[in-house]
Amino acid sequence: MNKTGKPRAGAGAAKVPAATATPARNRQPAETKLAELKRRLLEISDLAAARSVLRWDQATYMPRGGAHARARQGATLSRLAHEKSVDTALGTLLDQLAPYAAGLPYDSDEASLIRIARRDFEKAIKLPSAYVARASALGSASYDAWTRARPANDFAAMLPFLEKAVDLSREYAGFFAPYQHVADPLIDAAEEGMTTASVRSLFAELRSKLIPIVRAICDQPVPGDGCLRGSFSEPAQLGFSLSVVKQFGYDTDRGRLDKTLHPFCTKFSSGDVRITTRVDEKHFGDALFSTMHECGHALYEQGVAAALEGTPLGMGTSAGVHESQSRLWENLVGRGRAFWEHFCPVLRDTFPDQFRQTGFESFYRAINKVQRSLIRTDADEVTYNLHIMMRFDLELELLEGHLHVKDLPEAWRARMQADLGVAPGDDRDGCLQDVHWYGGTGTVGGGFQSYTIGNILSAQFYAAAVKAHPDIPLEIAKGEFGTLRGWLREQLYQHGRKFQPSEVVMRATGGPMSTTPYLVYLREKYGELYRLDLAPLPEHLQNYVPCAAA
Ligand code: ZN
Repeated sequence: MNKTGKPRAGAGAAKVPAATATPARNRQPAETKLAELKRRLLEISDLAAARSVLRWDQATYMPRGGAHARARQGATLSRLAHEKSVDTALGTLLDQLAPYAAGLPYDSDEASLIRIARRDFEKAIKLPSAYVARASALGSASYDAWTRARPANDFAAMLPFLEKAVDLSREYAGFFAPYQHVADPLIDAAEEGMTTASVRSLFAELRSKLIPIVRAICDQPVPGDGCLRGSFSEPAQLGFSLSVVKQFGYDTDRGRLDKTLHPFCTKFSSGDVRITTRVDEKHFGDALFSTMHECGHALYEQGVAAALEGTPLGMGTSAGVHESQSRLWENLVGRGRAFWEHFCPVLRDTFPDQFRQTGFESFYRAINKVQRSLIRTDADEVTYNLHIMMRFDLELELLEGHLHVKDLPEAWRARMQADLGVAPGDDRDGCLQDVHWYGGTGTVGGGFQSYTIGNILSAQFYAAAVKAHPDIPLEIAKGEFGTLRGWLREQLYQHGRKFQPSEVVMRATGGPMSTTPYLVYLREKYGELYRLDLAPLPEHLQNYVPCAAA
């Protein structure tokens, strides 16, 4: 495979004359077959989109009474989509189109479509329908139980579900044997091309450089964030949040913002990419930063080339790359000094009574407060990754059989104490806090690493954008985001799923995934905020393009 994204040597140029010389009646079947492939893939895409509409409705406006029937309706659509995606006729079409694809440039839409559809098909047929149905049923039942068990702090109620989920995860891995580590197939499903070993070494490197920053910050007094507490009306918070993301470039003719419990972004078509948020009227921040975060996901989806619509290419390439975009817009832009230089006056106009007395620095420090904390979703930019690494290690131990599910609460507490210096008083704020192990696909593993990969990549993409357009921070300080968005669209968004995550990173940034831009970003931003006396960077990193320069 040609990883550079360039046409294979001799493939594009050499085969054109041959194709031109081929009689029309011989070329026709490949084009007809390609049309047939697209027709079949469009049906699968439509079923998935219909399933997404049902999920969006359930998470926003559906009355509670609809839950039982909605679970059945969703399962029906999932089953129909799965049946179509493992149809032997689809496999035959892909076989027949292989020679045609080999004559096309690697990065053409058609070659990419045939390549990715083949990969999806080969993965889908490894999973027996009975397994898919069992995993889906466990996911639904476990999620339903978790919604009651977490508030009740009842880990015992979740024990049998989690034990089954660990078993199902091992069973899933078995369908993709041989593998080096039992979590490899689960990780590959989220981050194509990554393995347990590659994530472990990435995390070990990040961790060794992150810990001194966390220690240096946490030695300092915790800054106050009282200015974020008070009375902030829901309409004003929603209005401010929406005006910000529209300025980022979120197109509300092709999307909308609604309220939900756990914010998310969903896509039904390129003309309909929706985001959701939640509002706490006693606290400013959650609604805005959640909206920015989901807007980052939405900008990615709204930016996918229209030609890829309705195919497996018409979406972001991986969970980690997707998360890099939500983090980039939420944190590197939205929690940045440059951004607030423009938006602070707008904020004071929107909430004059609440922010009249608040100075810029107090506000900026409040929204970037670093603190050792119990809850991942409330964690700051610096300590967040420690929460992820802990979860990643614990789920590996569960899958390896070195940790029994019944011992998870204690292992969680011990690891929190060791890594973050705080331990939860109960499981509600401990191993029951995240939904990831108690729903969804009915499996454990392969999900959490994408958040930290997203953090790492957010800084790497941003640094590359600033290197190409050094005025980006100055533009952000004027409330202008077109150059940044345009670069991301050109380098990342438009390609959808045409390229693997590693290919996307290489094409956009000129190198493989690296923790350096992220660490430089954290050291610069938090070094300045907390006046840290950090050891100097190694010489070869000192000229690295700064991410947060403004
Ligand atoms: Zn996200």
